[in-house]
Amino acid sequence: MKKKIIVEIGHTAETGAVGHGLKEHAVCRLLGAKLLGIFEEAGYEVRLIDTPVGMSNSQELRWAVEEANRDGGDLLISLHCDASDNAAAHGAHVCYYSTLGQRIGERIMLQGGLARLCPGRSQAVVERRGLYVLRASEMPAVLVEAGFITHAGDARLLASEAGLGQIAACVLAGVEAAEAAGLLGH
Ligand SMILES: [Zn+2]
Repeated sequence: MKKKIIVEIGHTAETGAVGHGLKEHAVCRLLGAKLLGIFEEAGYEVRLIDTPVGMSNSQELRWAVEEANRDGGDLLISLHCDASDNAAAHGAHVCYYSTLGQRIGERIMLQGGLARLCPGRSQAVVERRGLYVLRASEMPAVLVEAGFITHAGDARLLASEAGLGQIAACVLAGVEAAEAAGLLGH
């Protein structure tokens, strides 16, 4: 049976991080569209969740997770960009809450190659017990921090069609590896 992936676009238009002329929500929308395309092409069912404008960050999180749980899927992927006051901070990573999320995150970062495409973090996957979107999800969930919007090099990747396509390809390859390992559909 087709596996169903729910992709949540982090934040709303005015509540995410900014840097190098980019806005987190806008970047994540473009990345979400890339994911939708290549996951459908690969035979997955995909639901994109993009929160209505006008919500605060906490309202957005609650709304998005309720929406994801109501719909139900085999994996929730929340899309974000990192930001730091330190302009040198760079690199993608995946945040997780559950062991399953950890194992799926490792596949996205390592097998899928997101750690090679956008390197810089000492840890490819990071446990985040406090992140509501991960904790409240009734399906395995990962939060992809697709690089630092505040870093010139990462921002170049995030600003380009080709770069977003490469990030999406890493996520797909990781999810396919996770599915092959029997990590989806729990
Ligand atoms: Zn974010």
